[in-house]
Amino acid sequence: MLKLPVYMDHNATTPCDPRVVEAMIPYFSEYFGNPASRTHSFGWQAKAGVDIAREQIAALIGAEPNEIVFTSGATESDNLAIKGVFEAYASKGNHIITAVTEHKAVLDTCKHLEKSGAEITWLEVNEDGLIDLKKLETAIKSSTILIALMYANNEIGVIQPIKEISALAKKHGVIFFSDATQAVGKIPVDVNNDGIDLMAFNAHKMYGPKGVGALYVRRKNPRVRLYAQMDGGGHERGMRSGTLNVPGIVGFGKACELCMQEMDSEMKRVSTLRDKLEGALLQTAQSYLNGSRIHRLPQITNISFKNVNSDNLIAGINKDIAVSSGSACTSASVEPSYVLKALGLEDDLAYGSLRFGLGRFTNEEEIDFTIGRVIDTVSHLRESNPLSEIYKEEKLPM
Ligand SMILES: *Cc1c(COP(=O)(O)O)cnc(C)c1O
Repeated sequence: MLKLPVYMDHNATTPCDPRVVEAMIPYFSEYFGNPASRTHSFGWQAKAGVDIAREQIAALIGAEPNEIVFTSGATESDNLAIKGVFEAYASKGNHIITAVTEHKAVLDTCKHLEKSGAEITWLEVNEDGLIDLKKLETAIKSSTILIALMYANNEIGVIQPIKEISALAKKHGVIFFSDATQAVGKIPVDVNNDGIDLMAFNAHKMYGPKGVGALYVRRKNPRVRLYAQMDGGGHERGMRSGTLNVPGIVGFGKACELCMQEMDSEMKRVSTLRDKLEGALLQTAQSYLNGSRIHRLPQITNISFKNVNSDNLIAGINKDIAVSSGSACTSASVEPSYVLKALGLEDDLAYGSLRFGLGRFTNEEEIDFTIGRVIDTVSHLRESNPLSEIYKEEKLPM
């Protein structure tokens, strides 16, 4: 039976999988110890839980357990990676290359460093949302210390050419950091295959708890140095002090294990549902897919309905369907999405976008319901719009 409201915003966050919750519960009260306590069994038990989680997380991304640094989430991991490299490699240079479509946690960290003397190159993207590898290579110079480019975009799901980017970084001896928060657990990500030196991700985008994340820090070829941004007891090999969030970390580990086991079948299942939803919505007159159709995540689609205001569209459906027009982090602003603007969308399309994020518990009934409601609401809004005549024209070929 269909249960309302339908959750179609999995790129903002995901529900905790019940199996994850179950794994966490003993670590709140039974195994409550501080994993840094070395003198008694309470500490040892907690540390054992953290050690297993570290292995589960490392296994999902092809890393070694001692290359995982626990943080409070992807925002903190982004800050630690970028600021940490900027400070540790100050004697080599001050130049960082990133892109205009990055998550705010990367953009604002780079803007912050600009005020402290960093030189930032902001790469544009093409209409598909992809960076230009030639422009990336041209931007690299002797003072370049970091390339910071995300694995997959949180608004449009577009996957950057990670292997090509890392090959360029390696060729020029530059560290490559990737915010892979949307990709890890959804598609195969392997730090060695992909050539990534630093990688940010979190638990709550992959059916784990909120408030816990990780930074992968490569230990050989090359060994990446980082300046801590949180000083204190020297936890996490000195890179991030503070008592570990043991239940959160245990849940993060379990979430990674489940993603690893179920990834292949989930990718197929969810992309089939996504394609059904997307295909039906793109039948509507004057509707357009945002971002690359090929290089993207299986569970997301971002569609613009021309001259429909997405605020009105969302208001018309959000009693029964949870969607957003862009990222949760910027949805408080009235400006259209900076990601869609970067693709070159005019206002009449940028203001009319909806992001649908499917997930592990999304079923076909929910997809059918969403198709019906969105199409009805779009036509209703257009009928009440004095410009509606233009939408009765045949849809132009794309
Ligand atoms: C959600 C998200 C973040 C922020 O993660 P938090 O753990 O909530 O801080 C960073 N980058 C990307 C790409 C995201 O999707």
